[in-house]
Parts: sequence; C-alpha cells; structure tokens
Amino acid sequence: MSKTNRPQLEVILPVYNEQEVLSPLVNELDQVLEPLRKSLNINFLFVNDGSTDDTLGILMKMADRRGDVRVVNLLHNFGHSAAVQAGLDHFEGDLCILMDADLQDSPTVIPEMVEKWKRGARTVVVERGARSESNRWAFRLFYKMYHRLARQMPPIDFGTFSLLDATTVQRLKKMGEQSRYFPGLVAYASGPISSVTAARRPRGAGDSRVGVSGLVHLAITACLSFSHVPIRMVSALGLLSSFIALTFGLGIIGIKVFTSRAIPGWASIMTVTAMGSGVQLLCLGLMGEYLSRIFQEVKSRPLYFVGEVIEKGSKRKAA
Ligand code: UDP
Ligand code: MG
Repeated sequence: MSKTNRPQLEVILPVYNEQEVLSPLVNELDQVLEPLRKSLNINFLFVNDGSTDDTLGILMKMADRRGDVRVVNLLHNFGHSAAVQAGLDHFEGDLCILMDADLQDSPTVIPEMVEKWKRGARTVVVERGARSESNRWAFRLFYKMYHRLARQMPPIDFGTFSLLDATTVQRLKKMGEQSRYFPGLVAYASGPISSVTAARRPRGAGDSRVGVSGLVHLAITACLSFSHVPIRMVSALGLLSSFIALTFGLGIIGIKVFTSRAIPGWASIMTVTAMGSGVQLLCLGLMGEYLSRIFQEVKSRPLYFVGEVIEKGSKRKAA
C-alpha cells in the first residue's frame, strides 16, 4: 500500500520494437485510467525486450518526463514469456494489469476489471470476444481442443491481458519453470477466476512480433505443460497398432489354415509397414519434444537478464 494509503496499480507492458504504438497506447491508457486515479496510485512498468528500433529511446524520454513510468531494459530479446516474467519480478504494487503493448488489448475494460477486484476478485482475465486476426479459426480450434485436453483450465479463451493481485503474482513467481504458458500458470496460481469480455483489436502497427512459429511453440508448451494426454497418446497408439497387427496376424493364419487361397501380399505388407514406421516416428518425435524440454528445465538458466532499470532521473544497473 502506498504512502497515501491508496492501493498501487501497476500496468505491466512487455515491448519489442513497438516505437509506432507507444504514444497512442499511453494516451489511451491515460484517458481510461484518469477516473481510477482518485482511488488508486497508478504507474506503468515497461519491459523493453531487446528492441532494435527506437522503443528504448522513447521509453527513456517518457520515464524522464513523468514520474509514473519505469522501464526494465532486458539485455537482449528473450521472448514474450520471459518479458512478462521480468515484469512480474519487478512488480512492486498491490495489483497489476498485464497487457500487450501493440493496442490489441483494449484498455477500456480496465475499469471493469478494477471494479471486480474492488469487489474481492484476485484474478480477473479478459476473455477474448471477437478476434480480428486472419487466422482466428485456428485460435478457436486450439482453445476448443485444449480445454478438453487440460481439464484444470477454466473454459475461458484468455491470454496475457489480466489483472492479478500481489498474492497471485507472488505465487506465479514461485513457479520457476522454463516453458511458460501464461494462462496455464495463472489458472494454477489462482482461486476462482473472474472474467470480463473484450474484442481483440487489430495490431496498432506492423506484424505480430511473436509470429506463427512462436504461436505453434506456445501451443505445444501449453499442451505438454498442462496435460498428460500427449505422452499417454504414445502408449495408446502403441496399443492400437499392436491390436491392428494382432488382428491382421490372426486373419492371415486363419486364411492359411482354413482356405487354399494365396495370401495377398506386397501392398498390404507395405501399407502396414509404412503405417507402423509413421506411428513410431511420431512417437519418437513426441518423446524428443519432452526430452528437449526436460533438458531445458535441467539447465535451469535464468529466463532473462536485466541490463538496467530506468526511472525518473535515474538509471540503475541491474545487480
Ligand atoms: N513482445 C515481447 N517480446 C517478444 C515478442 C513480443 O516483449 O519477443 C511483446 C510485443 O511487443 C507485444 C506483446 O509482447 O507488446 C505481444 O506480442 P505480439 O503482438 O507480437 O503477439 P501476438 O499478439 O501476435 O500473439
Ligand atoms: Mg499482438
């Protein structure tokens, strides 16, 4: 709690090459948050994830101009999940709003989220209503499948945009895993989850910084980190192919013993062999995916390194 006894709300924003959107974003946030300033102290915590454009320069000027902006400057680009974690690790308030900086997350729902927090909610997520992405069908399909796979996940399509109180942030900080699927971690660290709904807007400028391959990697992380189904699928596939092979074998013996027909050969043998090796390679690939993730966890490298923390009139080198 702050000196003025007003709770401290920190808006945490990971940024990577977002020079075009920073100024409209902060303008919009200022407008939306103005009425909340009566009851809350509000500040912004930007995590610059190794931007190579003028993002850091703009943020430094902003931090110099206003007392409510802090910038955690990462040593280089560590990726969205690491940048989010860096934001949580540097959080010093009573509650935070985590959101993307590219204008896709609409700040207009923040007052409703804060209202829910005032009425006792500790975790408030933003359910994605309409989406503007061209591949939105893929997101829908993924979430439909995923909520069947990972049963402990609430049936809400949400991403990073969320309100978390200090206790939930503390819990999230205790989960030191390397492969981080943020909604899964939030669900694990939270009691009942409240939600508000907002349409996901188009990106303010440029293309997705995470990209399709980043999203595929995230989807795999989500499945492997929060469900045992993929690894059990290997055993299930093994069982199924053994069953098929046994049925085939029995059929062939039956034909040989009870009929005088020649057993039709080459095509069926090739089909079964090809199917068998396909299944085996698929299983090997899946095991490899687990193995590489275990290797990553065992190495247990820090998720990110901080270059410096910048706030009004000062620039602290990270310890
Ligand atoms: N971002 C980041 N590091 C990265 C990639 C993205 O900090 O390596 C930030 C980015 O600036 C944005 C947010 O994370 O504020 C979400 O990124 P993006 O819009 O590219 O993700 P998408 O919406 O396509 O999933
Ligand atoms: Mg985006």
